Amino acid sequence: MTHYPLPTLGLCPVCEGEIRIRKAGTLYFHDCAGEGREPATRLEPTFARWLWTHAARRDWRDNRIAYLAGAMFRGCTRSPNRTPLDVPWTTADELHDHLHERQAARTGSEIRQPYNGGRCDWMCRDVETAAAQYAQLVEQREAAR
Ligand SMILES: [Zn+2]
Ligand SMILES: [Zn+2]
Repeated sequence: MTHYPLPTLGLCPVCEGEIRIRKAGTLYFHDCAGEGREPATRLEPTFARWLWTHAARRDWRDNRIAYLAGAMFRGCTRSPNRTPLDVPWTTADELHDHLHERQAARTGSEIRQPYNGGRCDWMCRDVETAAAQYAQLVEQREAAR
C-alpha cells in the first residue's frame, strides 16, 4: 500500500482555491486564470488537505485511506466534489468527531454499530489508520528540517 506525501498546496490569488504547487513554485492547472502563477500563500499540509489528495486515487478498493478520502470528499456522483474548504474538520480527531455527529444527526445516537452497541465502526478505524500514517509523515518532515 503506497501513500501520498504531504501535499504542497498554495492559495490561488485569482479564485482563492487550494491548488497544488509545481516543483517550479507555480500553481497547477485548475481551470482558472491563476494557473501558472505564484500562490498568494503556501498552505500548511493539514490532515484534511493530505487526505483530500487521496480522493482521486483509483485504487480505493484496496487502499483504505483512498477509500476514506473518496467517502469524505467525493460523496455520491450527483454531488460536486468537495475540497478541504468545504468540510467542517481539519484534523483526524475532528473528522472522527464529525463521523459521530453525522451519525447522531441521522439516527439520534452517535453509536455507529447499533446491533452490538459499539460506538466506533470500521470507518472510525480507517480514520485512525490514516491519522497514524499522517503523523508519521509529519514526523519525517520535522526530522528532515
Ligand atoms: Zn485559481
Ligand atoms: Zn468512532
